[in-house]
Amino acid sequence: MISLPHVDVVNTRVSGDKEPWAVERLQRIHVEPLLAYGERVVLRKVWRYEDLEAGRVQRCSECQGSSVESRLTEIYKDTGDSRCFTCFGTGFEGGFQPLVYVTYMLARSSPDTVIREKSGMQDLERPTVELPAKPRVNEGDLIVRVLEWDETKTIPVVTDRRFIVDDVQRSTIRDALSPASLDQLIVGYTVQLSDLPKDHFWHKVQVI
Ligand SMILES: [Zn+2]
Repeated sequence: MISLPHVDVVNTRVSGDKEPWAVERLQRIHVEPLLAYGERVVLRKVWRYEDLEAGRVQRCSECQGSSVESRLTEIYKDTGDSRCFTCFGTGFEGGFQPLVYVTYMLARSSPDTVIREKSGMQDLERPTVELPAKPRVNEGDLIVRVLEWDETKTIPVVTDRRFIVDDVQRSTIRDALSPASLDQLIVGYTVQLSDLPKDHFWHKVQVI
């Protein structure tokens, strides 16, 4: 299997990636506890309808091919065949953006306050976590805990539980002086995760 490109999003500065001073400072304040007390996790970003509209991704060639299904997709937007391994049920080719993000996550809820649900024989956890401002996180994204990293600390060797991003609260500041985009005003995320059931086919999504 060919390894996908991995990027360490917290410790990498993209050239031209300039934030207004106040926003950058607040993002730093938000990210420092994550760096100190958080854990390194892998994030796979799911393709979204806006990516299709922007021409970044095609509809799934496997399950969205026929004209009848295409018409249905127009009606139901981003629905796909829930067992299609080409799009992982997203309806978009590949299902996820090809870059594997390595980021930091800090659990906000203590083990005692984590919501637990019974699903068949399995206890599912719904922890609330903090994530840095970059990359942008959306509902439906996949987060994978990692037990062991390679020596560069960028490529996971042994992975652990997987979670789906359920609900995203953005911590933002208002910058009255500049008409900055919402992206520039985000200083961090508080996110509710849902434990992926053991038999869920998103365990097949590549993270290495
Ligand atoms: Zn598909």
